[in-house]
Parts: sequence; C-alpha cells; structure tokens
Amino acid sequence: MEAHAKDLHLIDTHYVRHEQAGAWLLEHEGRAAFVECNTSLATPRLLAALAARGLTPEAVDWVFVTHVHLDHAGGAGALLQQLPVAKLVVHPAGAKHMIDPRALIAGATAVYGPDRMAALYGEILPVPAERVVASQDGQILELAGRPLETLHTPGHAWHHMAIHDPHGQGVFTGDVFGLAYRALYTPSGPFLFPTTAPTQLAPEAMLASIQRIVELEPRWIFLTHYGALAWEPRLAKDLHRFLGSWTTGALQVVRDLPAGPLRLEAMEDLLRYTLRDHYRRLGGQADDATFAAWTQLDVEINSQGLLYWAQKQP
Ligand SMILES: [Zn+2]
Repeated sequence: MEAHAKDLHLIDTHYVRHEQAGAWLLEHEGRAAFVECNTSLATPRLLAALAARGLTPEAVDWVFVTHVHLDHAGGAGALLQQLPVAKLVVHPAGAKHMIDPRALIAGATAVYGPDRMAALYGEILPVPAERVVASQDGQILELAGRPLETLHTPGHAWHHMAIHDPHGQGVFTGDVFGLAYRALYTPSGPFLFPTTAPTQLAPEAMLASIQRIVELEPRWIFLTHYGALAWEPRLAKDLHRFLGSWTTGALQVVRDLPAGPLRLEAMEDLLRYTLRDHYRRLGGQADDATFAAWTQLDVEINSQGLLYWAQKQP
C-alpha cells in the first residue's frame, strides 16, 4: 500500500504482476470507500490495507467499480461479503452482471479456459441486489459528507463510469483515460495510451469522455493501471493522437486486407510501432524486451478491439 495523500492510498492488487492493476482506498472522517476491487484473489490485500489504516470492515460505506471487467470488479462479491455495511456502486448497465455474474464467468471462461480462469480471477461471487447502487450520471454520493460524483463515461465499455472527487481534486478514471505503467515512465512523464478492448470500443464516446474529464480541471488522474498522474494537458493530447492514428489505421486495414489473421497482424504491427515511436520521443529508456513485456498484452487486446470496431463501420 502506498500513500497518495493522507486520505488516499493505492493498493497493488498483484493482478498478473506487480503494479499492473490497483485499487484505491479513500478515507474521510473515519469512513472509507474503495474504488475498484480487482479479483477475489485481491480481497485479502484490500482488507489488509484497511486494517493497516486502523479501519474496521464496518467503516467502509462504498465500493465503487468503474466497470464490470474482471480486473476491476471480479472480486466485488467476495469483498462485499467481508464489509457488512458497504454498498457497491456500479453503472446501471453493469449492475445486473454484479448481481448475477454467470454471463461474466461464461465470457471469461470461454476466453481463458477453466484453469487459467481460476488462476487469474479466483471465485466470482454474486452481489446481493439490495447492496447494489446503480449510479446515475452526475449523481453525488457522500462519504461522511464528502461528495463523490459518478460520471457515465462510455468508450472503453458502454457501462463505464468515472468517479470525481472534488475534495481531492482528482478523478478515478478506470480504463477510459488510458493506462500508464510505472515501469515505462519516461523523463517527460508518464507514457499514457488508450485501452481499446473488445467488444464495446466506441472511439467517439471515448473522446467525449476524455473531454468531459478534462473539463473537470482535475489536478490528479487516478488510474487503475496504474497510480496517480499529475495533470498536464499533454496527457489528453496523447490519448487523442493514439486514438486518431489507431482508428484510421484500423479502417485502412479492414479496407485493404481480407478478414483473418493478416488483419490482426497488421493491426498489432501498427500499435507496436506507434507505441514504441511515441515512447522513444518521450525519452523512454526501457530496453525493447521490457517494453514488449509491458505492452504486448495491450497490443493484442487493443488490436482486437479496434478491428472489431472497424469491421462494424459502414
Ligand atoms: Zn482494466
């Protein structure tokens, strides 16, 4: 656990590897909220962080999840079982999947197979319906009087939301404001790029959500992958530039190449090239093997998302 401020701590969930996916513990006047909970394998880490802060499970009022992808919300049911009064706050379109996770489990099992599924995600437990709050866009929930605003921010997924904390001058952006691994920080600052996962990528919506976050004039962007970024205008610009070149590239690939592995290969090449090129421009020093190790999975997932989107365009 590391302190961002005395009332906000970042917990490394150790999902896949060190500093890949975080969860946030926010405190105010003796009450607490989690933002993101990762998988049930991370539940002991979240509870340990709570105890380390001298808080009991009864002190947690809210568990926010930005969307229901399993590295953000897979452990919600397991965590809520340990927190007697907490409510789970989720976008209304994600709520049903938290209450009945069978579709999430089936989807992930189809992708990963049962063994890898168990190793990555542990057990995925349902959340009792009466403990789920389906967030409205612009809704204010209070943590001991401290306002936390839920913003519907589609783009990465239709049911994605961000959480604005005016008091802490920050926005918890889930996966809609890109990701920036610490291992790839550069002399010019974070190496931030969009996450364009299948199957709900909506580039226009993502740009609008990014703009909405920019207009909040945050001092901090709190990423799930990974950590706090001090605001600078370059961040939004970088996301725009990547999305522009990737969507243009995806449409070109779909136009020029037959459906099948050639498209995916071309898309992955484009992403690899644009990512590395920008990283070097920022002065990034990691060697090629380290760079590839941190970006490979995102290159694959992002390429699939972009092609899935491009193939649906008229
Ligand atoms: Zn994620």
